[in-house]
Amino acid sequence: MKIAFIGLGNMGGGMAANLVKAGHDVHAFDLSADALTRATDNGCTAFTEAKAAVAGVDAVVAMLPNGKIVDSVFGADVIGHAPAGSLLLDCSTIDVDTARAVTAAAEAAGYDMVDAPVSGGIAAANGGTLTFMVGGSDAAFARAEAILSAMGKAVIHAGASGAGQAAKICNNMLLGASMIATAETFKLAEKLGLDLQTFYDISSKASGQNWSMTSYCPVPGVGPQSPADNGYTGGFAAALMLKDLKLAMEAAASAGADVPMGQRAAELYDAFAAAGSGGLDFSAIIRTLD
Ligand code: NAD
Repeated sequence: MKIAFIGLGNMGGGMAANLVKAGHDVHAFDLSADALTRATDNGCTAFTEAKAAVAGVDAVVAMLPNGKIVDSVFGADVIGHAPAGSLLLDCSTIDVDTARAVTAAAEAAGYDMVDAPVSGGIAAANGGTLTFMVGGSDAAFARAEAILSAMGKAVIHAGASGAGQAAKICNNMLLGASMIATAETFKLAEKLGLDLQTFYDISSKASGQNWSMTSYCPVPGVGPQSPADNGYTGGFAAALMLKDLKLAMEAAASAGADVPMGQRAAELYDAFAAAGSGGLDFSAIIRTLD
């Protein structure tokens, strides 16, 4: 297929390269010249205008920083410029309301569109092992699945338009809150005189067990290899966790949901990022509990 890819940054660069590897003809557009050079090195064809990149394609994939940019790129350069009937996929993490509004505008103009945010970081984007959570009609999902599976290990239909974004921010709100709870628990265990490896051996087999502990332990030298063993580098940046928590708080306000733990997690990551630590892995929040 001929596929336009818009936004070839940390995540999109590797994703577009995997579409090339799967045999697709990929038209790359990004505002950054460096991103376009890397895309060309990976076998994409670079375009200096989005409208030119989407001309004549079967599908358009976007991996952009936020909802405002997604709205403006699809509104100005994709809808009405990509061929009628082509498939639009937005893999960025954005707010549910914007995802639904952009899809409604696309459908009104005769396109199928899905929101398809990802779980997995840069390594998963490069390795083609992302998990996609997809919102959209059954027909749009069926068309999107073949393209997304070239970039991921799992493609899950979450429900109607916006459901992919809803699943992503609900998951990450739980992750943020569970990471803080895990970090403060290990700090308390330490202050109570427990050996942390011994506590891990107990709690990882008891009812406190959770992913932030057993797959991503924030304590260096305890549990499996994780960013904590690497100076809290190379994982999921705290600034991105904060972005997702803010999206979750917006969604909770708009849906009238009470989320006190998510709210507290958002406040703590906000303070962490404001103190200049947004570039560290999100598990480094444990350092604030010393
Ligand atoms: P990034 O900043 O590295 O990449 C974004 C790219 O979009 C950049 O190359 C930028 O030049 C380009 N861009 C910005 N505005 C543009 C426009 N108007 N037209 C064309 N290109 C434009 O960000 P990233 O880390 O690749 O994240 C992309 C998305 O993926 C975000 O929504 C993020 O929340 C989500 N995400 C990131 C991770 C991660 O670990 N980095 C994990 C899961 C989801």
